Amino acid sequence: MTDPLISVVAPIYDEGPGVEQFVARIAEVLEPAGLRYEVVLIDDGSTDDSWSRIVGQAQADPRVRGLRLSRNFGKESALLAGLEAASGDAVVVIDSDLQHPPSAIPAMVRRWQDGAHVVEAVKRNRTGQSIGNRLSSRLFNKAFTGLTRVDLVDATDFRLLSRAALDALHRMPEHSSFFRGTSSWIGFTRATVEVDIDHRAGGASRWTLRALFRLAVNGLTSFTSAPLHLVTLAGLAFAVFSVLLGAQTVVRWVSGHSVAGFTTVILLLLVTGTFVLIGLGVIGEYLARIHEEVRGRPRYLIEERTVRDAIPEQWVVEQRAER
Ligand code: UDP
Ligand code: MG
Repeated sequence: MTDPLISVVAPIYDEGPGVEQFVARIAEVLEPAGLRYEVVLIDDGSTDDSWSRIVGQAQADPRVRGLRLSRNFGKESALLAGLEAASGDAVVVIDSDLQHPPSAIPAMVRRWQDGAHVVEAVKRNRTGQSIGNRLSSRLFNKAFTGLTRVDLVDATDFRLLSRAALDALHRMPEHSSFFRGTSSWIGFTRATVEVDIDHRAGGASRWTLRALFRLAVNGLTSFTSAPLHLVTLAGLAFAVFSVLLGAQTVVRWVSGHSVAGFTTVILLLLVTGTFVLIGLGVIGEYLARIHEEVRGRPRYLIEERTVRDAIPEQWVVEQRAER
């Protein structure tokens, strides 16, 4: 039997010179560890020279492969494209900005060889993140964990999946996927390694506030309908409140000294208006998801692949024979 093949899948969006740095760093770590690997780089519609750099890397090193999406589909879709293209026995998903330390990969591979199907890297520190970022992601992870029972506290997208876990993941048809959540939801024997999240190698975060907000909403709505039940509960609480307030108002009116109503009316209008609109918004989010799923559009489109297929012919043959 040949050594197992490790696929390193990394999305790239406007990383520029970061591409070469990343590929070099992976080789620096994985070669001494004696691991057979391939690097799958997904250009998520970069507007800079990332794609030509990826092609350059693929030409220089047969272990590097590139996919170019037809536009910016977002990190989640880029990841999916990479995962579907990966041919390894285990797949490592990692950010290409070197915030996820590649030096942790050999340890993750060891856990996998010891029998784990999903190896998660959990954050030991958070030096590379701003305070606002840290707070909001903590808040979201806590809320998500509480509402869905899928534990996301300290979780990252830096994970290793075995072939079996990856196949399970591929069976999820949903359009707006949420890798961090789905790769936990599938279950399987899990292990963790602790990593230090580093500062970004170049440039600023590629996530806009809007994209992060969408990710949070998509993540929640794809995992739980708890917000819908919360709306129902709020409605019920309101019903109780109305009965009490209504009774009090009628009693006062009958006994001849009703309150001067202007302030009360304004306040009630504001409160009910807000509740109704938030309720509609929550329903709308779920409706939008249904709409998206029903359209059934492809989750990403590939414009081109690097010409020379990275895995030499005989590797592919060996792979098929093994299955
Ligand atoms: N990324 C991507 N598409 C996007 C945004 C980001 O492929 O639309 C990639 C980016 O190139 C990087 C990874 O996703 O490899 C994480 O992005 P970033 O470092 O900007 O996010 P953060 O570290 O702030 O979570
Ligand atoms: Mg980053």
